[in-house]
Amino acid sequence: MLELRDIHTYYGQIHALKGLSMNVNQGEIVALIGGNGAGKTTTLRTISGMMKPKQGSVSYLGQNVSGVPSHTIMGRGMSHVPEGRRIFPQLTVRENLEVGAYTVSNKKTVEERIQEGFALFPRLKERETQLGGTMSGGEQQMLAIARALMVAPKLLLLDEPSMGLSPLFVEAIFDIIERLNKERGTTILLVEQNASMALGIAQRAYVLQTGEIKLSGQAADIAADETVRKAYLGDE
Ligand code: ATP
Repeated sequence: MLELRDIHTYYGQIHALKGLSMNVNQGEIVALIGGNGAGKTTTLRTISGMMKPKQGSVSYLGQNVSGVPSHTIMGRGMSHVPEGRRIFPQLTVRENLEVGAYTVSNKKTVEERIQEGFALFPRLKERETQLGGTMSGGEQQMLAIARALMVAPKLLLLDEPSMGLSPLFVEAIFDIIERLNKERGTTILLVEQNASMALGIAQRAYVLQTGEIKLSGQAADIAADETVRKAYLGDE
């Protein structure tokens, strides 16, 4: 479904991704883990067209999308929940969802998807008319995910969905991610600092270090790897 080949992405002189190759198959949850500054966010930005790689190719659903603008890629069923959520604080919950559906022209479909979002996150329904910016971090993360689902994505890119959330919200968000995958067949690429939770729901994983893939394989094998345990899972 998604294939990155020898990707090099820069911020000016900073060489953030150094020949990264990875793939995500339809129906999978794939975790991308790594420390601060490893390049996880840059990888998602490169996939969704927010950044253009200097070298290498991104292929999505069999087409080369390197250099294709974000909104065009999104129109083909890819949705990106960015780091830090970025909901619209001055808009209500419902308005945030409507904005997420700006590429969906059929009003009935938009309303159906809003109701699906409310079914998935009943807490958002209770807060339908509340301003996004006045909600808790966990609620904003739910809204960010529900907004990304308004385009009924085939591939969902999630950047640190558990960041800054209380344990209860972390559980709820991971539960939803698993349900989206199982019940709707949504393919998911999950970037996480919370490596143990991510490896717990993913089938496969990649470990990124200073812009390069250091390790890849079945999530269970990565979780059992001694260097991974020491570096990312808090083992002594
Ligand atoms: P974190 O978990 O801390 O967000 P990350 O793995 O997502 O880390 P990236 O944000 O992708 O890492 O950063 C990769 C590298 O690119 C880092 O060296 C970072 O300093 C650099 N970088 C990221 N954003 C910018 C930017 N806007 N301008 C310049 N350099 C950047």
